[in-house]
Amino acid sequence: MENEWNPKIIKIKNRNVVFQYQITDWNLNLHVILGNKYNYVIDTGLGSLCAEPVLNFLKEYPNPIRVVNTHYHWDHIWGNGSFGDCSILSHTLCRYLQTVKWDSMIEKNRQFQKGDVQLNLPNLTFDGELYFPDDKIRIFHTPGHTADSISVLDEEEHVLNMSDNIGDSMEEIIPSMEVENDTFRNTIRSYMALNVDACVSGHNTIVGKEVFQTILNELDLNGK
Ligand SMILES: [Zn+2]
Repeated sequence: MENEWNPKIIKIKNRNVVFQYQITDWNLNLHVILGNKYNYVIDTGLGSLCAEPVLNFLKEYPNPIRVVNTHYHWDHIWGNGSFGDCSILSHTLCRYLQTVKWDSMIEKNRQFQKGDVQLNLPNLTFDGELYFPDDKIRIFHTPGHTADSISVLDEEEHVLNMSDNIGDSMEEIIPSMEVENDTFRNTIRSYMALNVDACVSGHNTIVGKEVFQTILNELDLNGK
């Protein structure tokens, strides 16, 4: 039977692929980077039905999988259960927040569950930064949308996953924030120092690095 949760598959560069789901009136992106030693799955979506097309795609690429949870929010972690014993990477705080907020996030958003939703906590946590030189993948703390938000930079193809540090659309480019405005500003400024060609996020379209300045300008305009 046709799975209504067939994502749109967007190939950004050779080793960067985005699986984009249309959920009622918002989009949800899962991002895959095919590394030399490991394949990286950045965020796992709303349950097993979001994870399945990604796992099927990766059957063609036999490297082991590392999962990244960009932050603790339900729409980014509910597919974790489909990744069994894989390493699941996150900020230390993200593991804690998943533990304490799991039940209430399910309570409030259960209508969005797609397939099986199982708690599968991050098992490789860090505070500042992780670097995988064989794959040229850098993962680093970028508080803004949430205090536990992390970003992923593919230093080979210059693709940045900034997760929800950008709003859901160009009209709402400032995300909801769980930290001080200045903390968010510093994160956006830190992105500007990176060599980036394309930015992937949790819900927006693929954008260029000019978006960083647009976000800072918008913060100024709003007096934030
Ligand atoms: Zn979020």
